[in-house]
Amino acid sequence: MNRSAGILGGGVAGLTLGALLAARGWAVTVYEQGRAGGKLRREEVGGLDFDTGPSLFTFPEVWREVLARLGEADPLDLRPLPGGLGLHHTPHGAVPLPVPPGHPLHGEWTRYLAAAAPLRPHLGTLLTTPPRLRDPAFRRASAALFGVTGPHLSAEGWLRARHFSPALAHALRTHALNAGLPPQDAPALYALIPALVGAEVYRPAGGMGALLDALLAFLAARGARVREGREVRAITGPALTLAGGETARHDLLISALDPARLAALRGRPVVSPPGGRTVAGVALYAALPAPAPLPATSVLPPGSFSAFRAAMRVGALPPDTLTLVHAEGHRLAVLLTAPATGQAYGPEHPWVRAQVARAERTLGVPGLLDTALDTRVLSPVHYAAGGHPGGAIYGAALAPWRGGPLHPQPYRPAPGLWQVGTGVHPGGGLPAVLGGALIVDRLLRETGH
Ligand SMILES: Cc1cc2nc3c(=O)[nH]c(=O)nc-3n(C[C@H](O)[C@H](O)[C@H](O)COP(=O)(O)OP(=O)(O)OC[C@H]3O[C@@H](n4cnc5c(N)ncnc54)[C@H](O)[C@@H]3O)c2cc1C
Repeated sequence: MNRSAGILGGGVAGLTLGALLAARGWAVTVYEQGRAGGKLRREEVGGLDFDTGPSLFTFPEVWREVLARLGEADPLDLRPLPGGLGLHHTPHGAVPLPVPPGHPLHGEWTRYLAAAAPLRPHLGTLLTTPPRLRDPAFRRASAALFGVTGPHLSAEGWLRARHFSPALAHALRTHALNAGLPPQDAPALYALIPALVGAEVYRPAGGMGALLDALLAFLAARGARVREGREVRAITGPALTLAGGETARHDLLISALDPARLAALRGRPVVSPPGGRTVAGVALYAALPAPAPLPATSVLPPGSFSAFRAAMRVGALPPDTLTLVHAEGHRLAVLLTAPATGQAYGPEHPWVRAQVARAERTLGVPGLLDTALDTRVLSPVHYAAGGHPGGAIYGAALAPWRGGPLHPQPYRPAPGLWQVGTGVHPGGGLPAVLGGALIVDRLLRETGH
């Protein structure tokens, strides 16, 4: 009989590792307390389907590696997003990233690209290889990383040393938030994200939900079961207790939950790392009566990253926050960065109204959201329901020297119990989460699983 694996949590991480294990002959069951997909979900707002959660698909080589390990063709039909990372409305002027030829900042942008270029060929290795210095490929990739970042620990330190113009530096700082942290606290690697991503910003033709469909199809084709609405209440050795009292035993357990949730399920104390929390968000999804006259992606950095960081550190709402606006036909998404306090915010909350008004003013579309036929708001309380207890999108924060590829490796918290997902792989966006599943799959193989 096949050995059985129980996966806790049906987000992208759990589904991906489930598919990889099922492809190697494991009998896989995924236990998901709500709907499969986790932060990646489809919601209907005003009669339109919205993909909530991730909206930008980057570093597609990681996804291709997942497909290669599964022996699958790519069902996603990834389409480049017009305008790449978007137009960044900095206090020093608007900056498109990537900066196109002919733009006054193109020369500086070329200098920036050249600085990051030695790292680009190694990025796939950093994202998909267990961080072990005895592995020659990882050693080479780490050497390339340190060759580019030099003595700088933080994204802010690296950017200052480059003496870019205030507008380009301000726009680049924004992408430190891919680590879920302000540039002063994010590893130097995150100052390089726009160069490493370049023009390769994608979305599947069928929307981000197509990624969820693909993972579910891969699981079903390999006989795996995805049990939705099945909350795990406790873990005792190899046994799970589900809501309602049902118990289940597996030869291998994989937690694809935030580590704090896992600790609670094991009856362990929840230890808060000293770095605090990564950010949460307030996301507004609006169905408009007419297409918004906006580019696909607009980015409004905070006016001052110091004020932004100070607010995040104490769990306060920043005066003006990092805001992303995605426009696609009648669909509009406004994503406001917020501290991970687990709070609920509605569209009428004064801070939300002020941030939306700032975005509308900056983008030249005052009152746009007032015209919406319907609006849905997801706030930290929503993200906390399935992820980190405060709603931190990328879990607990790590110090800059531990937050990059050389992160701590709590992959096996107990014999027979392994973990993947956002809270385990720093900067836990889709590339880190997919890459983390590949890393743990490899480690499991190496240990005879
Ligand atoms: C607004 C927003 C925008 C984002 N934008 C991007 C982007 O543009 N690009 C990008 O790459 N990434 C982006 N991300 C990040 C990306 O969505 C996440 O990193 C990724 O989806 C996390 O996957 P995960 O499987 O690690 O965690 P989750 O999706 O949180 O999955 C964990 C699952 O565990 C379940 N669970 C929890 N407790 C239990 C229990 N006791 N029993 C059973 N199940 C349980 C939860 O219900 C959940 O389904 C964004 C995230 C947000 C919120």
